Amino acid sequence: MSYKDPRTSQERWNEAHRDELRKYQREYQARWRAEHPERALANRRRWAAEHPDYGRQRYAANPEAGRARSRKSVQRWRERHPEQAADIWRQFKATWNPPDLVQRMRAYSAKWREAHPDTVTEVQRRYSQAHPDKIREKRLRRVTRERGAASEPIDPQAIYDRDGGRCHICGKVVPRTKASLDHLIPRAFDGPHLAANVRITHLSCNLKRRHLGPAQLLLL
Ligand SMILES: [Zn+2]
Repeated sequence: MSYKDPRTSQERWNEAHRDELRKYQREYQARWRAEHPERALANRRRWAAEHPDYGRQRYAANPEAGRARSRKSVQRWRERHPEQAADIWRQFKATWNPPDLVQRMRAYSAKWREAHPDTVTEVQRRYSQAHPDKIREKRLRRVTRERGAASEPIDPQAIYDRDGGRCHICGKVVPRTKASLDHLIPRAFDGPHLAANVRITHLSCNLKRRHLGPAQLLLL
């Protein structure tokens, strides 16, 4: 019993030369597009109108590659339209207005926060959980400012490193999580919230001493 291949010789040839064929088709299409730019554009537009979700789906499948494609496409456009691109850049620079820009960005982000209160609460909750000392420090700074004493942003970690992680009251090493900031001139006596006026202490030492301890003698 002889086997008869149902494919025509043309089909067999096509299958054997698939890569070559594809390359040839691509070249032919590129030539056709170059010769008929308007029809090619119209075809692309029609195809896009018939497949409105294609781009979105392709982007969603791999956002990183999508961003790269769009960057490349912008770059290609700039290369093909250097004068228009230069014009846009000139316009951008002429209207570039930093103070106004900052205001616009603030207004935008205020509006965004208003529209997404739950996200804001969640982000704040996560931030204060991750940086309890920064939150404490910020509150301290505000209270000091309201009293009229000098204040500056202080990074607790920087003070911890500066003081070598030692409690300035008992002289022992303070674990990072048990460390607190102590004001040499107490805030109760209008001491400023400045890096020069704070030292690392055990929270327990700080609370025991309150604002009448050896640090004040040290200062005298
Ligand atoms: Zn201590």
